[in-house]
Amino acid sequence: MGLSIVPLKEWGLPMKDIFLSAGPCSAESEEQVMDTARGLADCGVGFFRAGIWKPRTHPGSFEGVGIKGLKWLARVKDEFNLPTGVEVANPGHVEACLKHNIDVLWIGARTTPNPFAIQALADALKGTDIPVLIKNPISPDLELWIGAINRFYNAGLRKLAVIHRGFSTVRKIMYRNAPDWKIPIEFKRQFPNIPMLCDPSHISGNSEFIFSIAQEALDLLYDGLMIEVHVNPAAALSDSSQQITPDQYRSLIDRLIIKKEISSSQEYQTRIRELRLEVDNIDENIIELLGKRMEIAKKMGELKRRNNISTLQPNRWEEIVQSRIAAGSEQDLSEDFIFQLFQTIHEEAIQQQERDSNQEFKKE
Ligand code: PEP
Ligand code: MN
Repeated sequence: MGLSIVPLKEWGLPMKDIFLSAGPCSAESEEQVMDTARGLADCGVGFFRAGIWKPRTHPGSFEGVGIKGLKWLARVKDEFNLPTGVEVANPGHVEACLKHNIDVLWIGARTTPNPFAIQALADALKGTDIPVLIKNPISPDLELWIGAINRFYNAGLRKLAVIHRGFSTVRKIMYRNAPDWKIPIEFKRQFPNIPMLCDPSHISGNSEFIFSIAQEALDLLYDGLMIEVHVNPAAALSDSSQQITPDQYRSLIDRLIIKKEISSSQEYQTRIRELRLEVDNIDENIIELLGKRMEIAKKMGELKRRNNISTLQPNRWEEIVQSRIAAGSEQDLSEDFIFQLFQTIHEEAIQQQERDSNQEFKKE
């Protein structure tokens, strides 16, 4: 959809090739904020981030320092010439941030999925042109993310961007939040001109993985990064294990490689075209084979129907899962990928069988 969004480079915030935000998960004390900002002062960040109101899962955890933190951020801006950004979750937060000249607002992952909260925020921001960054909802729900963008857009905001910070999952994974890259990729496909940042800190939950996730985001043409940086991560009052020091941040940014979408090299173009042709052929074969597989599934459906046999055959499904995962691993295909692929195929086979049996029912 063609929303007319102001490009990042025209937001009036510092940026080079990519847009960067860094700063602590939470503002904890004036000293911690100033020391962290001092370490980031010459890193070219677009804005210094710090949470003032923290949405915590359990009451009694550190819930942020509140309005007094905004005064510390005013000092950051004054002394280090750094624009500042804060998470807002209600109109009161918005009002306080605007009063204290905060430069950027972001919407947290627990707020994005709540249309009432988003509408109240959008109404409170009407008439301003402050940049608003919208984190993905904690659940992998693309529509709620899009809905939030549209509410801010309809309120007249044009400096909008999204932040991919990963999704809650009950699956056991190595990260705190599943990246589920297909969701931000689909967002980008539908809204190519909305800038997309990645927050590798909240995806990884562990400082160890931040570099690889940040690099993957750049490989996927993200426009920027938001990274949690604390002068003393071990002592942080929130998200301690995923924060890095200003020095670690500097070296991480230095190591990142910024990718481009196209190349003018003839050699590259010829070779990539050859490889793409190979992929096109394989995809054609896959689709043809899937069509054949579904035809057989339909015959099985008919057979089951005639014999009053259930569509779902749990033992057979278990056998498919195990054998396909084993075969996949021989081809270096991950268990997760094979499982999800066959889950989709199996679901489609069941739906086709059910559709046929409903049609038969209608005929009778
Ligand atoms: C944060 O940025 O510190 C934060 C609370 O993030 P999220 O909304 O992504 O959990
Ligand atoms: Mn955090």
